[in-house]
Amino acid sequence: MSHDAAYWLQKIRALDLPSRIKIMNVCGGHERSITLAGLRGALPGNIELIPGPGCPVCVCPEEDVYQATQLALNEKIILVAFGDMLRVPVNVPKGEPRSLDAARAAGADIRPIASPTEAVQIARANPDIPVVFFAAGFETTTAPVAAMLAAGVPPNLSVLLSGRLTWPAVAMLLDAGKPGFDALIAPGHVATVMGADEWAFVPARHGLPAAVAGFTPESLLAATYSVLRQLLAERPFLDNCYPELVRPGGNVSARRQLAQVMDVVDANWRGVGVIPASGFGIKPALAAHDARLRFPAYDDPARKRAGEMPPGCDCARVVLGKIYPDHCRLYGRACTPRTPIGPCMVSDEGACRIWWASGIRE
Ligand code: SF4
Repeated sequence: MSHDAAYWLQKIRALDLPSRIKIMNVCGGHERSITLAGLRGALPGNIELIPGPGCPVCVCPEEDVYQATQLALNEKIILVAFGDMLRVPVNVPKGEPRSLDAARAAGADIRPIASPTEAVQIARANPDIPVVFFAAGFETTTAPVAAMLAAGVPPNLSVLLSGRLTWPAVAMLLDAGKPGFDALIAPGHVATVMGADEWAFVPARHGLPAAVAGFTPESLLAATYSVLRQLLAERPFLDNCYPELVRPGGNVSARRQLAQVMDVVDANWRGVGVIPASGFGIKPALAAHDARLRFPAYDDPARKRAGEMPPGCDCARVVLGKIYPDHCRLYGRACTPRTPIGPCMVSDEGACRIWWASGIRE
């Protein structure tokens, strides 16, 4: 029998907790539910809920956004991308288009899409024009891209892939020591695709409690209660608090398609640097559909450097859970959803945008 949010809050409030406990989430959907439902205010004040690396648009390297922008501006192509990527700012000299939206206003053929199916439809409708699908996302977004490639795509469609795996960013934080959190709420959507076991390293290697949560306040509170109980009992394990959708092994066919068309590669995370085995790359057998290989002139190695953030933007520290969004000195001043400076204020999954949208003003 499932319980409501009030039930879990009562159970949490009844616990005899230490003076400060920090729990990190790694999913933009979790952060949105936590913030919009006001869970921080409802929980005892000694529990801190920290947004972590849960926004794929935020960690997409600037050089990839720049590459997409330059491709769209300089080649006779159609560039398609998920909508929230269109407003991510790139660092360019004054006067040049600062985002895909600006490149579109300057005449580039850039079209927002909501699914890989639309990319295929656009490619089929324009067989004489190369179509580049700029696909940035975590496992949940990358799996449908893999399914698209595995099913076969028109010859004029290629993918500029900026896919990332979630767990290596958390592993990096933990391996570095002093991660800044005492327990982890693992992402339900990612676990639905990849299986919960990916997160078993958190208790097994680092001795921290972990629980997979769904997206309702009840599920998030159940996971919070689970990790608090684990902490108090000093018996960390990986709890699955989203059993209705997260099955052992995840989605077997999605994982098979990912393995069929993509390799796991070292990948740059915007402002963070290269994290080993944290990205997806298109397999050499599908080179004809890899936009990085079809348009090598736009893959500029000189642009690839860690710390690629606009001046004053603290997105990288927000993404890593080192600071809260409102600790950035640009939050709500120079940087708002109407005038975003960094990607965390652009994406619906960005912590800055979520906090701003829910009325947090410092
Ligand atoms: Fe970056 Fe804006 Fe967030 Fe500051 S408020 S971290 S500038 S996105």
